[in-house]
Amino acid sequence: MSGIDVDDYSDVWVFVEQHEGRAERVSWELLAEGRRLADAKGEQLVALVIGEDCRGVAEEAIARGADRVLLADDPVFEPYRADPYGEQFRALVADRKPDVVLIGGTHTGRDFAGRVAVPVHAGLTADCTELDVDDEGLLLARRPTFGGDAMATIKCVNHRPQMATVRAGVFDPAELDPDRDGEIEPVEVVVDESMTKSRVLERVVGDVTDITDADVVVAGGAGTEGNFGPIQDLADALGGEVAATRAAVDEGWVEPARQVGQTGKTVRPTLYVAAGISGAIQHLEGMNGSDVVVAVNTDPNAPIFDLADYGIVDDLFEVVPELIEAFGGETPEV
Ligand code: FAD
Repeated sequence: MSGIDVDDYSDVWVFVEQHEGRAERVSWELLAEGRRLADAKGEQLVALVIGEDCRGVAEEAIARGADRVLLADDPVFEPYRADPYGEQFRALVADRKPDVVLIGGTHTGRDFAGRVAVPVHAGLTADCTELDVDDEGLLLARRPTFGGDAMATIKCVNHRPQMATVRAGVFDPAELDPDRDGEIEPVEVVVDESMTKSRVLERVVGDVTDITDADVVVAGGAGTEGNFGPIQDLADALGGEVAATRAAVDEGWVEPARQVGQTGKTVRPTLYVAAGISGAIQHLEGMNGSDVVVAVNTDPNAPIFDLADYGIVDDLFEVVPELIEAFGGETPEV
């Protein structure tokens, strides 16, 4: 037993991740889901915003469904470092005793969630793809397990808070309602520069393309046989991002950050073009929330056509250049 009284804990908290005043989209996705869980539990939805000069993000959190925002605003939090974030978050959790804490499964979220969970002896389920509450108000945190072969539902019965990091792109973001009212509470900042062990000496930005943010995704599979030129050109013509199946990533044709599916990223673009992709269930899981799906495949029986809004049964090396031309791009050599 944990020795804590679980009845002392209440409310659903969502960590609203922001960098330089710009919130990560996953935060708004979690606010929508947090709102649903808080309503099911009959509790408040509280957003936690940490950063410097980020009152605008706090106001947006109210407009997107939070009842209250806890705002820790101080230069020590900019740029992000795990130790001040983790310590501030830990202190608030210990003081306010939230029942459920949701954090985006971003680099930042994954980096500091453990720093909160371990010292307060919380249960932390990582990389969840579904959330719910049971009849007793316990969080049901669902996530793929055994390499994606099964789904596990994890309950945290004896420890609090019930914490989860949640995969980006799984839920729709909360809508903006500028007329919503809520309270923004500036909280005491419990860390200062002298307490932090890390220093940021230099920031080096590499190719950190995030396909989960893209409005248009053009994905290629094994049918490309490694020639992603037309896929890239179509993505360029449409102002989108290139993505791939695991088969293509395993071959080394595309970097792993662009893999869509159960063991890759979840995307929900307005337009998803799938070229030379069979439509395996593990791939569909990462893109079946797309608004419009266009599939190009030589096999009329490919399962991708069951999901596609528009299906073209033909050779992608014939079709994709025509699409590029139609959208005003340069016709590639194939
Ligand atoms: P294939 O299934 O080989 O399909 C290639 C398609 O291209 C075929 O339909 C063929 O008709 C078509 N084609 C061939 N030539 C042409 C041409 N010239 N023009 C047009 N079409 C052509 N997969 C993922 O994508 N993402 C995941 O996250 C993922 N996770 C997995 C997790 C587990 C636990 C397991 C077991 C599997 C996972 N997979 C995942 C793999 C998945 O099961 C499939 O093997 C994979 O998605 C197949 O990729 P593909 O469609 O590119 O290849």
